[in-house]
Amino acid sequence: MFTDKARIYVRGGKGGDGMLGFRREKYVPRGGPSGGDGGRGGSVILLADANINTLVDFRYKRKFEASPGGRGGTSNCFGAAAPDIVIKVPIGTIVYDEKTETPLSDLKEHGQEFIVARGGRGGRGNAKFADSVNRAPAFAEKGEPGESRWVRLELKLLADVGLIGYPSVGKSSIIARVSAAKPEIAAYHFTTLSPVLGVVSMGDDASFVLADIPGLIEGAHSGAGLGHDFLRHIERTRVLIHVVDASGLEGRDPIDDFEKINEELALYSEQLAARPQLVAANKMDLPQAKEHYARLSSYVGAKGRAILPVSAASGEGLPELMRRAWDALKDAPAMPLAVCPSALPEEDGDAFAVRREDDGTFCVTGRNIEKLVAMTDFANDEGLRRFQRIWRRIGIEDALRARGIKEGDSVRIADMVFDFAD
Ligand code: GDP
Ligand code: MG
Repeated sequence: MFTDKARIYVRGGKGGDGMLGFRREKYVPRGGPSGGDGGRGGSVILLADANINTLVDFRYKRKFEASPGGRGGTSNCFGAAAPDIVIKVPIGTIVYDEKTETPLSDLKEHGQEFIVARGGRGGRGNAKFADSVNRAPAFAEKGEPGESRWVRLELKLLADVGLIGYPSVGKSSIIARVSAAKPEIAAYHFTTLSPVLGVVSMGDDASFVLADIPGLIEGAHSGAGLGHDFLRHIERTRVLIHVVDASGLEGRDPIDDFEKINEELALYSEQLAARPQLVAANKMDLPQAKEHYARLSSYVGAKGRAILPVSAASGEGLPELMRRAWDALKDAPAMPLAVCPSALPEEDGDAFAVRREDDGTFCVTGRNIEKLVAMTDFANDEGLRRFQRIWRRIGIEDALRARGIKEGDSVRIADMVFDFAD
């Protein structure tokens, strides 16, 4: 089954822990602090690639977790940064945060990248905490956790021109003739299950992207059969080439086919029905086609659409069809992209909230305080004292007292729970 949606879990690597170390010097029991910083954790990056055209691979692999950064070393050695994980996706992939349903990115061109889960920063070694007051700090920071989230990927092809029409009318044969694309061509229906893209060269570096969008069937607008996914793909093509089988070889009437497909388009979206549409009367090399063509062309002409006789078998009429599509593109507006916030809303990192849980635990949430908890080594006295200083400075202690906290009450921050003490 053709897949144009996927859910994946992405997690950036944790930053490496900072090192706690001191220089060894002759006659000096404890030399200057020399613990290096940890390395950055790997990020998970989505990369739009023109050679990929489905999201089907994500059926087999759903979790992408980058490696943690290396631990800082002694003698001010920094830990190694972990490599990023780069995931290739088709052009036209829209990335949604599953929890908030916010579109995060709409990858519109080859080579475009989106960092979907950032790796954590390396923790600072004790050398970084030395100052005039504390010349020999005996604590280091742990690495920052990487970002993690479930995202929904949705492919809405971004092609200039889309080929539509009933199965077996010759869509794949046409794209194979006019571009380097190599779709499956077969005498039976529904061979093509994923869209195929081809670049049509118009000379002088000019070109456009043609998409073979398979399997538009009756009842597609109501989600019947495979149709619905394909209609989604045509949504972002600027010009349509509607291919009909002028030979009527399959025992179908080309006028009937033309009408039915346009009904489907209109039921799905008025905008789609109003999009520039060229009609390609294919299989004109077959003898039966001549007589159908006369009827078909006066019918289509009366509907105000342009029609061209072509043959994917002989190639006749195809250069003219491409030329006409190219002309129509020049007047067709660009497709709007999904509106993604360019940066997530700027929040005050020190902001926090206090909530009372059912069992009486005081629960503190906030970006910086949660990060601080993850990066503090609580087993280390100096580290703990630094934590307490920051927690007072950003006002958490006052806020807890205002909520009536008493000695011995439990406080929870992220996954850490501790007893409150004066
Ligand atoms: P699609 O389902 O619309 O992609 O149709 P295909 O391109 O797979 O073609 C279906 C069948 O029609 C194949 O057997 C093709 O060889 C045949 N066909 C396609 N175009 C022509 C044409 O112009 N002339 C003739 N005689 N046969 C064609
Ligand atoms: Mg096909």
